[in-house]
Amino acid sequence: MDISLARSWVQAVAAAVDEQKDQLTQLDSAIGDADHGANMHRGFSAVLDVLDGQEPATVGDVLVKTGSTLVSKVGGASGPLYGSVFRAIGKKLDEPTAGTREFADALAAGLENLQRLGAAAPGDKTMVDAYGPALEAFLRIADADGGFAEAAAAAADAAEEGMRATTPLQARKGRASYLGTRSVGHQDPGATSTALVFRALADTAAA
Ligand code: ADP
Ligand code: MG
Ligand code: MG
Repeated sequence: MDISLARSWVQAVAAAVDEQKDQLTQLDSAIGDADHGANMHRGFSAVLDVLDGQEPATVGDVLVKTGSTLVSKVGGASGPLYGSVFRAIGKKLDEPTAGTREFADALAAGLENLQRLGAAAPGDKTMVDAYGPALEAFLRIADADGGFAEAAAAAADAAEEGMRATTPLQARKGRASYLGTRSVGHQDPGATSTALVFRALADTAAA
């Protein structure tokens, strides 16, 4: 991972969110308040504006700036949560490049912050259910001295599997938890956007 890849990653997330905002909103209309697509779109559009014209000196500069912008621009639960994830990842990456192992550690810090802030456990039907498996997959490849693109591809696959596995779960955190058992049978919007974030990383790393 270098500064240019970090920037391309964030741009790829913004493009994917732009393309899939209606789907994210549709998922959120089933078990939430139908704004997840709009929230993500507002956040990542602002991120593109903020990063444009910046001269970051480290990978972390790109990702911390991304996180801070999400926190300040997105009102829903997902803004502060994604914001804290990107900030935590970025804070670990204070050099112009990062290896697969260092990036794995940074992703771990991201999950730690997500869970500290949101208090969601695995199985609560949240973005944790996509992020957790993605991190595990990334770590597995990093531990085996695999390359960055390979680790990112495994993480994206695991995130998508985790995303699909949220459908039969009952939500225990966030707005969807107010529905109780009526949240069962719907894929979690936040887990869906998290899978999109990891797929964007894999696509960027493979390019
Ligand atoms: P809001 O619920 O405020 O409208 P969004 O619709 O943008 O915010 O985001 C909803 C998503 O946020 C959910 O699908 C879920 O994945 C995620 N989420 C909500 N609360 C939590 C939490 N405490 N921990 C982790 N993720 C959460
Ligand atoms: Mg919502
Ligand atoms: Mg909302």
